[in-house]
Amino acid sequence: MQFTSTRRTLSLESAQVITKGISEDGGLFVPRTFPRLSDELISRMAAMDYQERAKTVLSLFLTDFTAAEIERCVKGAYTGTFENDDPAPLVEVAPGMNLLELWHGPTCAFKDMALQLLPYLLTTAAAKTAPGRTMVILVATSGDTGKAALDGFADVENTRIIVFYPQDGVSPMQKLQMTTQTGGNVAVSAIYGNFDDAQTGVKNIFADADMKKFLAEKNMEFSSANSINFGRLVPQIVYYVSAYCDLIRTGRIKAGETFNVTVPTGNFGNILAAVYAKYMGVPIAKLICASNRNNVLTDFIRTGTYDRNRPFHTTTSPSMDILISSNLERMLYHLSGNDEELVAGLMKQLKSDGRYTIPADMLTKLQQEFYGGFCDDRAASATIAELFRQRHYLCDTHTAVAVNVYEQYVRETGDRKPCVIASTASPYKFAKAVLSAVEPEAAADNEFAMVDELSEVTGTKIPAPLANLKDRAVLHKSCVKQAEMAGFIRDFLSR
Ligand SMILES: *Cc1c(COP(=O)(O)O)cnc(C)c1O
Repeated sequence: MQFTSTRRTLSLESAQVITKGISEDGGLFVPRTFPRLSDELISRMAAMDYQERAKTVLSLFLTDFTAAEIERCVKGAYTGTFENDDPAPLVEVAPGMNLLELWHGPTCAFKDMALQLLPYLLTTAAAKTAPGRTMVILVATSGDTGKAALDGFADVENTRIIVFYPQDGVSPMQKLQMTTQTGGNVAVSAIYGNFDDAQTGVKNIFADADMKKFLAEKNMEFSSANSINFGRLVPQIVYYVSAYCDLIRTGRIKAGETFNVTVPTGNFGNILAAVYAKYMGVPIAKLICASNRNNVLTDFIRTGTYDRNRPFHTTTSPSMDILISSNLERMLYHLSGNDEELVAGLMKQLKSDGRYTIPADMLTKLQQEFYGGFCDDRAASATIAELFRQRHYLCDTHTAVAVNVYEQYVRETGDRKPCVIASTASPYKFAKAVLSAVEPEAAADNEFAMVDELSEVTGTKIPAPLANLKDRAVLHKSCVKQAEMAGFIRDFLSR
């Protein structure tokens, strides 16, 4: 299996692609071809457990990894780290409506599915490309990614992880999740400023020549755990293949029968993984792309014009508050029939004008594959309340956006094919908005009391990683200015 860049023809193996993260031309790494899942393989996979399915899918993309390496990676990632043996259960909430619960991991959001596996993939890849080197993961976070990355990389050999978060820009719960993180190779610091200050600080450090030299002398190298790394995409393909296997195994569809997929979308990583599963032969009919009020993708799918020049809205589904969906570049590459020049041109326009329009034939293809829809906070809240009242199923705000848009789609098209809806976070992770949806008279006035009240009101269980949080020791208390970030990193890496 060979990989190329979306902006230039290359021929790289997966280990190179995973250690580099992003191509030097600014493009993203994509597979040059897609492996196909034969009917025979699918019927065998339907009888496998999640780890076996993961090994099967990974071995098709990571052909430069040995079977033993893949086995070690998958076992490490998914043994004892998720609530159940099946990290991604498929729950039929209503006839034809299947919620793929991706939030039973250590941080209660779907990013665990990839970030529990990435450290193993990255260290295995680095051992091939640069034996003995320590990978230093640098993260600026607005909340969820930081904790998921910390949890994934904690105590993983030959790695260090450093996370910066804006002092007043994360919820008390998110802050405590990060400041209580254990592990000999982790460092966490708040920074004075907002998320952009943290992000800019990290970008500057990545590009700093002195820092690079400092790292090289220690046989260290910076790497990134963000969602454009192919190593984060491949674990996500697995759960869509697995969902198809579960639909077959439980008799909800027959092998080969088509179904739809709905994904609450921000950076376009999760939904792209569903596209890749489709390219491998999973019979997905329509991909339903659900957005919140930051509906840049809805407009794009409906008109062919991507335009980020619009107000930014803060919503109750913050992980989807994004105006530049970085993984969309990969989709453009595939839709254009691998036209690197076209993609490079569109990305240049996005950078200079904040907008671009795709050619008519590409728009036709885009609309054949996708349906785009959005809903605001009030509609999402109503969906949470309704789903709980009618089906006694409690979902989080991001998942609610997906369910709402899925219902819009069914009303508009009458298409009642079975649907897999990605459920991306535990309702307890966004307790404030979820509680006010199901109990408008709620009394709790802080996040931790809200979690307790949500459990009392709904009779559902608080996930263990959140329940224990209050009693854990705060281990990381530092707060630095942007200019002090480099010093903080040097101190930590010199220890
Ligand atoms: C990150 C995230 C999303 C968006 O996923 P993308 O891959 O960025 O499209 C949706 N919901 C939750 C809870 C998330 O954390």
